[in-house]
Amino acid sequence: MDEMICYNCGNESFENDFINKVFNINGKVYSVENIPALICTHCQEPLLLPETAEKIRVLLNSNTKPIRKITAKVYDYAV
Ligand SMILES: [Zn+2]
Repeated sequence: MDEMICYNCGNESFENDFINKVFNINGKVYSVENIPALICTHCQEPLLLPETAEKIRVLLNSNTKPIRKITAKVYDYAV
């Protein structure tokens, strides 16, 4: 794993882990679980490899059946 740099802190060492992440695309919210990610050992920021991000993009644009559906409450901080 070379040439990966944390965009948050500039650190160059990572641990492999799996994360859950919520994507908001054109007003639609998707939750994807068990995404392989690199976790910055300094600031814990998760980074996705370009091929991982691409695979998620393809997945969310496919007709793949979600494993389950959830409801989400949305708040405006200013209210
Ligand atoms: Zn970092």
